[in-house]
Amino acid sequence: MKVYIQVFFIILFFALQPAFAQKISSLKKEVLKEVDGLKPEVDEISEKLWDFSETALLEYKSCELLIGKLESAGFSIEKNVAGMPTAFIASYGSGEPVIGILAEFDALPSVGNSAIPEKKERADGITNGHGCGHNLFGAACVSSAIAIRKVMETKKIKGTLRLYGCPAEETVIGKVYMAKAGLFDDLDGALHWHPGTENSAWNATGSAMNNFEIEFFGKSSHSARDPWNGRSALDALEMLNFGVNQMREHVEPTARIHYVITNGGVAPNVVPNYTKVWYFARDIDRPRVESHYSRILKIAEGAAMATETEFKVKLITGVHEVLPNLPLLKEVQKNMDAIGAISYTDEELKWAKELQKNSGKEEKGIKGEVRPLESEVPAEKGGGSTDVAEVSYITPTSGFRATTAPYGIPWHSWQAASSHGTTIGRKGAFYATKILAMTGIEMFTNPELMEAAKKDFLERTGGKPYKCPIPENQQPPIPEQKNP
Ligand SMILES: [Zn+2]
Repeated sequence: MKVYIQVFFIILFFALQPAFAQKISSLKKEVLKEVDGLKPEVDEISEKLWDFSETALLEYKSCELLIGKLESAGFSIEKNVAGMPTAFIASYGSGEPVIGILAEFDALPSVGNSAIPEKKERADGITNGHGCGHNLFGAACVSSAIAIRKVMETKKIKGTLRLYGCPAEETVIGKVYMAKAGLFDDLDGALHWHPGTENSAWNATGSAMNNFEIEFFGKSSHSARDPWNGRSALDALEMLNFGVNQMREHVEPTARIHYVITNGGVAPNVVPNYTKVWYFARDIDRPRVESHYSRILKIAEGAAMATETEFKVKLITGVHEVLPNLPLLKEVQKNMDAIGAISYTDEELKWAKELQKNSGKEEKGIKGEVRPLESEVPAEKGGGSTDVAEVSYITPTSGFRATTAPYGIPWHSWQAASSHGTTIGRKGAFYATKILAMTGIEMFTNPELMEAAKKDFLERTGGKPYKCPIPENQQPPIPEQKNP
């Protein structure tokens, strides 16, 4: 009887094998073997970037760590690209196809937290935090590039692999300036991913956006003694905001326009001679954003004219919405399905529920399964903005979200920063490394896939060349603080 049971299990084992083999090619198995060997690396990079938690364009230590890993894995490095000290490109190989992997690694200000399920500042006093999980983003992208490079070498696979070190995603700046500098122009395709609360192929466009400041210049005088000698920059600013708020009724409901007053004058008894307001204008595509932007500038002009003040506009940055690519999206989904769900220990599930409880959320645990691909592409429009969009308008681009935090918690928050410093976050990074490595190796070795991706790209762009939203001669806004 015992022998029968053994035979049954042996038959069952072999019966299950072909299903696995069908889903995963030998080359993908090869790259997954490399990824397995890199598990300690993924963990180490994730932890160190989390410790550093450096904000946009100040990611000096993070950048150095990633460059060090790539250099010792045999990549050649180009530092300080597109005028940003923390932007870099790591390359391997030569000729075509040229495939890019986009890595991000910046943190957010003031969301730092200990890696525990309750709100508690970090012991080292760092107040920034990886509330968007870019520590995991950087770790997975760099590690997948190392795995792909190894298989390219051993299997003599032709082509150029580039890992793009993209700083300042949180301020939507890094890839915009890299795109303006033409750094993505010769790519045949690009890959990215993003931490999140579920595993799904990236079937959403987000919002196109313009991020800009408007300053008004008036004349000071005593607000009571001789107000007639003054011309108020605050009056102008208020007229602008009032005009924009009137305009809201006459834009499509997809528009999202928000502002903060960063300088509203200094004292009530001085007619303000200077004011400044900071605007984001978003919508589901670039032409709509450009239309809102030009209408807002007309209102500013009208406000300045009416108040006899002067005004100045500075477009800080701008992005497109993300352009999907169906063939690459399907390939990403195939690989996610082949790897399947992420599983969690009882301890991790307990941790997740405690965090949810402490955030006033339903204690649902962690979503480790893979969401099926929707039939509609894109399935979602609007919402936040990302500078990955710029790359997606230059070359066929695709990506996915992987679970790195408990379901339903707020994003860009202490809860997310805390999760991204735990094994829950690191499991997501390891999973992402696998998907990036499998998709990347397929892009190098499957010309039909790349042909289909190119065709889809040309259909969606109509063959129109990429136009960077920011002025040609504008330089990246590097913060004062120098390399510590
Ligand atoms: Zn992010």
